[in-house]
Amino acid sequence: MTDGLILGWEEWVALPALGLPALKAKVDTGARTSALHAFDIEPFGPVSRPKLRFAVHPVPGRTDLTIACSAPIRDRREVTSSNGESELRYVIETTLRMGDTEVPVEVTLTDRTNMAYRMLIGRQAIQPGWRISPADSFCQPRLGYDVYHTAEVKLAAPQRALRIAVLSREDNYSTRRLVTEGEERGHTVEVIDTTRCYMALNALAPEVHCDGQRLPRYDAVIPRIGASITAYGAAVLRQFETLGTHCVNGAAGITASRDKLHAHQMLAAARIGMPQTAFAASPKDTDNLIALVGEGPVVIKLLESTQGKGVVLAETRTAAQSVIDAFRGLRANFLVQSFVAEAAGEDIRCLVVDGRVVAAMKRTARGGEFRSNLHRGGRAQPVRITREERETAVRAARVFGLGFAGVDMLRGHDGPKVLEVNSSPGLEGIEQATGKNIPALLYEAIERRVRPAPVRKRRAAAA
Ligand code: ADP
Ligand code: MG
Repeated sequence: MTDGLILGWEEWVALPALGLPALKAKVDTGARTSALHAFDIEPFGPVSRPKLRFAVHPVPGRTDLTIACSAPIRDRREVTSSNGESELRYVIETTLRMGDTEVPVEVTLTDRTNMAYRMLIGRQAIQPGWRISPADSFCQPRLGYDVYHTAEVKLAAPQRALRIAVLSREDNYSTRRLVTEGEERGHTVEVIDTTRCYMALNALAPEVHCDGQRLPRYDAVIPRIGASITAYGAAVLRQFETLGTHCVNGAAGITASRDKLHAHQMLAAARIGMPQTAFAASPKDTDNLIALVGEGPVVIKLLESTQGKGVVLAETRTAAQSVIDAFRGLRANFLVQSFVAEAAGEDIRCLVVDGRVVAAMKRTARGGEFRSNLHRGGRAQPVRITREERETAVRAARVFGLGFAGVDMLRGHDGPKVLEVNSSPGLEGIEQATGKNIPALLYEAIERRVRPAPVRKRRAAAA
């Protein structure tokens, strides 16, 4: 039903496909095409189907309320505004809603901070049979800006195409799965080599550059930062965090979880079960250190070990002493842990996505080996975990604030014992073992979080 509508000179409208449930618009019959006030307007996606990502402050004067939108690009054309200036603008097509009426409209995007109305409705949107009553205001149902502060705006969020960055240096199974699955869902996924990024440290407008260009705005960043570049990767990630980009895992959580000692301290503080663990700097303390973790065999671990490479089992006290002496001689940092013999060369890897265990596998060490890492020849199979194990995994991921984590634990006599929390868990082993589509579950979580863009503070100067 579009006939007989009467429009005043200003009206409340909605652009539901963009996730904008309420805007005050001015009816401007002097203009042909409608216009929307947007900023950070950036094209993305494949050249055959280009899209536009932009942000809108739907409430005039409220620069802290930002809605990120995306839409397919229809055109790019020269537009002359009422003040006679001409400008090359992107054109999108979307749906304009007033009351119960919905009509398709072409909208040009322009960044004019001083526009009193976020939207101008041009002649092209006015349907045959409609009448303009220039002396009246709000002839159509009134809306209000309250919707932006309620859950409604989240529920009404459109399935928009997201622009996502995977920070990774490697073209491996996990990266490829993240790219193909993201594109499958209509998103654009760009893999960025963290070590090629450089940063402009500026209090007002933080930026990340890569290969001579400023990186665009992303809706989300999936960090896959290798252990060898943790510090630099965390710095790049912090820059994205400052920009307000949704990062699946944060820099602080990645850094803390990578350092075994720091990680165990944080897990202990959260009262999460773990093997008896001790640490010392002075050689004089070696005996006491071993005594601290108990009588039996001990496991000695380099603080930055991954893939089981720096993990040694010492069956006797003498063996432990000589391994510790050797590590000290190399000035390596390590910790000493009681050996959880009852785990019998098996550990459990729980994959946690946004506070939920989405997959779990049991890894069994090959014969004669106590380390169950797949890189050490371990075998993986799906496993049913107990409720206690599930809760432990979720809590361990939460300790580091990780939205995507692999939590490794041993099955001890007295409950689960967490060994480590991995912030870049591999996808191949767990997908093969469980048959689950892990990236799809991860993207569901990202979509929930960034549609529409969460309300965030922007500095007035950057707005
Ligand atoms: P990495 O980071 O190098 O993988 P982990 O701490 O995860 O180091 O240890 C590697 C493997 O060694 C674990 O997956 C587990 O199978 C075994 N392991 C580690 N610590 C213990 C322990 N305290 N008791 C028994 N087995 C252990
Ligand atoms: Mg491990």
